[in-house]
Formats: sequence, C-alpha cells, structure tokens
Amino acid sequence: MTDRYCVFGHPVGHSKSPAIHSAFAEQTDEALEYTAIEPPLEGFSATWRAFVDAGGRGANVTAPFKEEAYRLCDALTPRAKRAGAVNTLIRQADGLTRGDTTDGAGLVGDLRRRGVRLAGARILVLGAGGAVRGVLEPLLAEAPACLHVANRTAAKAEALAADFADLGEVTGGGFEALEGPYDLVINGTSASLGGELPPLPEGLFVAGASAYDMMYGAEPTVFLRWADERGAATIDGLGMLVGQAAESFMLWRGVRPDVAPVLETLRRGLQAMPET
Ligand code: NDP
Repeated sequence: MTDRYCVFGHPVGHSKSPAIHSAFAEQTDEALEYTAIEPPLEGFSATWRAFVDAGGRGANVTAPFKEEAYRLCDALTPRAKRAGAVNTLIRQADGLTRGDTTDGAGLVGDLRRRGVRLAGARILVLGAGGAVRGVLEPLLAEAPACLHVANRTAAKAEALAADFADLGEVTGGGFEALEGPYDLVINGTSASLGGELPPLPEGLFVAGASAYDMMYGAEPTVFLRWADERGAATIDGLGMLVGQAAESFMLWRGVRPDVAPVLETLRRGLQAMPET
C-alpha cells in the first residue's frame, strides 16, 4: 500500500503543500500519496485519528489547527515544545504520534540559501503571533548580535522575548519605541494579508540590509515595497514555505529533497496567476 500523508487546514483548498510534496516525492523517487484534508473546526483530533487508522503516516498542519495538533501529540520535539505549536505530525512505528515544527528551520534555510548573514547580525522581527514564536529559537541558534521583537500589542512582544531570553540577546516592545538600524528585518505580522504596513520609522536598515516578509504572493507585499524603496534587498516567504515542507519530508522519509527546483516551479506558477 502507498504511504499516505496529507495537510490539514480549514480552509485548505488554497494549500500548495500537495503540489510541493508530490514534486519532492517524484524528485527523490519516494512512493507516497499526499492530499489536502479539511477537518471540521471542532473535529481535528478525530480526523487525524481516522487518517492514522486508514494507514496515514504523517501530516502537515496549518491554520487554525497548529495548537490543537500540539495538544494531541504523545511526544514533542524540544523546538515544538518551545513553539507551543506543531506543523508536522509523525505516526511512529509504535503507533504514537510525535509532533515537530519546521517553520523556523524553513525560514533559516531560506535566509541561508539567499546568502543573508545571521551570525553577528542585528535582527528585527515584526509580530508576536504563532509564526514568530516558531522562528525565534532557530534564529537565535544562529548567534545574532541581537534580536528585537516589535509588535502592535507591545506586551505580547515583551512576553515572547522573556520566554526566549535564555537562548540569546532578545528583547521585545511596541512599534512606537522602534529604532534602527538593523541588518535584517523580518515581517511576521499578518498585516500584509490586508495590504497594511505596520507603523515603521525611517532609518530601519543599514546599507546592504535585507527585508523578509513571511507572506508571499504574485506581487511584492506592501512591506517589501516599502523596504525596497529604502534600499534593502527583499525576499518573500515562498522559500520558507517550500523549506518547511522539505524539513517535514525529511522527518517522514529520511531523505532531504532539493528545494530550489520546486521553489522555481511554484514561483513561475504564482507569476502566471491571473490578477484577482
Ligand atoms: P497570528 O494571527 O498568530 O499573529 C498575527 C500577528 O500579526 C500578531 O503579532 C498581530 O499583532 C499582528 N498584526 C495583525 N494585523 C496587524 C496590523 N494591521 N498591523 C500590525 N500588526 C498586525 O498569525 P501567524 O503568526 O500565524 O502568521 C503571521 C504571518 O506569517 C501570516 O501572514 C502568515 O501567512 C505568515 N506565515 C507564513 C509561513 C510561510 O511558510 N511562509 C508560515 C507561517 C506563517 P497583535 O498581537 O497586536 O494582534
């Protein structure tokens, strides 16, 4: 029987994960089937159990189920424990469910591929939601000179910084107290979804700085346009998406797929999409 995997989300119709994992499977010669499943909002755990009973080996989890996925796991990796969220479920040989989070590794891998220096860098992260919580540990593991988290609700950024203070030089605050310059500014807010720009001051970038938006689309986000006008090199979150998928694939299959060709195909697909 073919090994079965899937992505769970609600909604999930827009997910690029089936295309990404099918491309990885073809590239690595792994025989597997990967589909998208939309559990009812109150029925995620039951849907996972039914998937496992039907031979499911693992799954990706996206909004709004990452916290529930965390709670249903029998075992968690240290990074998933810290993140408080799980985007990768693995059915172990003993039948138990292990949870991991690969979003942060996907981001750091993408930054590395793009030649962005992290060691010794001054990093600013905008936002203090689930995505940012998931990337702080891998970013701090790269030994930046400092990492500041700025959020609309300042108290959330301060609390997040306190949670990670044992891992490095990390601080938190509101947008009003923000002062540059930084080598790398990562937008992890969902402001881009609504075409909004967080209230950012001038002087945020050093010469040669990079700006990263976790969001992606056919056109650059308003944050990336703003950063480009101020001389920063801009990168969107499509590489993070493909990177986190590659890390999940590696956890399930023990084979590391090549991100670059799959990213290139997805990028071409995005650009070919009609304007809505
Ligand atoms: P959450 O809902 O958990 O957090 C949202 C964050 O955005 C909060 O910090 C919130 O601030 C802030 N925010 C929302 N609207 C605004 C606004 N108008 N101005 C300023 N700040 C705002 O979302 P996630 O953390 O799960 O996701 C954040 C982004 O990351 C999304 O765009 C998502 O698509 C993207 N993402 C991309 C991934 C990838 O693979 N490329 C993976 C995961 C996420 P406050 O606390 O004040 O409400």
